[in-house]
Amino acid sequence: MTEEQKRYKLIGIDGKEYLSSEKGTLGGYHRGSQKIYGRLDCKNALRHIADGHYVKWRVFFKDEATAIAAGYRPCGKCMPEHYKLYKDGKIIPGDIEATKSNVDFL
Ligand SMILES: [Zn+2]
Repeated sequence: MTEEQKRYKLIGIDGKEYLSSEKGTLGGYHRGSQKIYGRLDCKNALRHIADGHYVKWRVFFKDEATAIAAGYRPCGKCMPEHYKLYKDGKIIPGDIEATKSNVDFL
């Protein structure tokens, strides 16, 4: 073992990458204007990764509040309840304060 700690590339609330000593709890992807977050074991994401088309757009987040603050919206496949909140205008990507006043899980 080296003394160097493992670092994980995560996306911060400013949408930029940073290195963290802790693993992300949520995954997602960012391609063009598409910014989506979801569970690490999302079937959609894993299928795209298996296809080999997806890895360069893959991103990770410390938590859901960070993903929303960075402008990402929930995945309709693995987070259907949160996706509905997004569709209903309660989860507002890029506006974490408004989102926090609309939902109780952040
Ligand atoms: Zn998903």
